[in-house]
Amino acid sequence: MRTLPDLLDRLAPGDRVLVRADLNVPLSDGSVRDDTRIRASLPTLRALLDARARVILCSHLGRPKGPDPALALGPVAQQLSELLGRPVAYVGDMPVGEASTGLVTGLEPGAVGLLENLRFDPREKANDPAFADGLVAGIDHFVNDAFGTCHRAHGSVVGTAERRPAYAGTLVSAELDALRGLRDAPDRPFWVILGGAKVSDKIGVIEHLAARVDGFVVGGGMANTFLAAQGVPIGGSRVEEEQVDTARSFLSAAGGPQWELPIDVICAPSLEAGHGEPWAVGEDPGPDRMILDIGPATIDRFCSVLAGARTIFWNGPLGVFEHPPFAGGTRALAEFLGDHEGRVVVGGGDSAAAVRTFGVAERVDHVCTGGGAALEYLEGKDLPGLAALEASARREGERSR
Ligand code: ADP
Ligand code: MG
Repeated sequence: MRTLPDLLDRLAPGDRVLVRADLNVPLSDGSVRDDTRIRASLPTLRALLDARARVILCSHLGRPKGPDPALALGPVAQQLSELLGRPVAYVGDMPVGEASTGLVTGLEPGAVGLLENLRFDPREKANDPAFADGLVAGIDHFVNDAFGTCHRAHGSVVGTAERRPAYAGTLVSAELDALRGLRDAPDRPFWVILGGAKVSDKIGVIEHLAARVDGFVVGGGMANTFLAAQGVPIGGSRVEEEQVDTARSFLSAAGGPQWELPIDVICAPSLEAGHGEPWAVGEDPGPDRMILDIGPATIDRFCSVLAGARTIFWNGPLGVFEHPPFAGGTRALAEFLGDHEGRVVVGGGDSAAAVRTFGVAERVDHVCTGGGAALEYLEGKDLPGLAALEASARREGERSR
């Protein structure tokens, strides 16, 4: 796979570079509420602009069914312009059409333009050939800097890379460096912290990692299903009945990794309860209480088993951290990981939000921007966007021979 430095080596000033970025940011009242993803895309953009490329940026935002003014990229163009300290050309309209062609042809060297939300056109998700042709019209090079969409075979991810020399941007390279280590040769002991809503979302990752990890620490909603598999009463907690057998088989696999489940929890009648009650695992919380966080003894236990780990991957909050009474476990583990000496990688949309909320995002080794893509990568799957970058590198290698 070729990366941004390879492109910078061969880039001529004035070349047109199409950059697929991940600018899928939350909007409210017509402005960007959290610009983390826009900031993350700046290193690739700045490097290209400094090299006097003409940069055409594209991204999706949200899940529009067609053109939708509420999901137009105008606020993103404005925020990007402020962060870059230079104008960002933006015409609205469809990502592939007369206006966008005008934008691409009209750019000066060292200038940047932003196409409209790719998913306004249904041909993006369908990877329609004519759509991809439109995206690369007038373009010399393609850069994929949207790791979070690499598990999707969309026009701007795959179609583009098939049509122009294609390179991984700095974000994609950084994600891969972090995840490759976890997937292929993590320093041992390697521990995985699993939480979040559901076991069913994470079965593939558990299966793939089980052979490589020393242990799993399990919290969050998914722990309920594991506790149920051990025959522990969980009262009115959320449980995935159809996953109980799977959870039991994970726990009892011969020669499998160590499993650490909660030994105490925080319960409440509902999320709106305002405060939680500590509860020992094994005592029946009864039908009117549910488990919403891990308890203090569990926090101590988890931190002590993780203390010697040389690699830790964290996916999934340990409680309903969006509600302060149930945020204690997630906060404590986040703080522990912020101070941990070994390598720490955090993946998953809500997990990434949690480390940012608790102020430790800068203190861990890597926070994956793309949750779904990171999990699929760790499951051992081939991601179409990455495969397209590799195929492009092979094609270009053959051409230059
Ligand atoms: P990620 O996006 O990091 O992969 P998930 O989407 O799997 O994480 O899970 C995140 C959600 O899990 C959060 O919204 C959180 O409120 C929820 N959650 C955590 N613990 C519990 C619990 N005990 N009961 C119900 N939901 C939980
Ligand atoms: Mg999530």
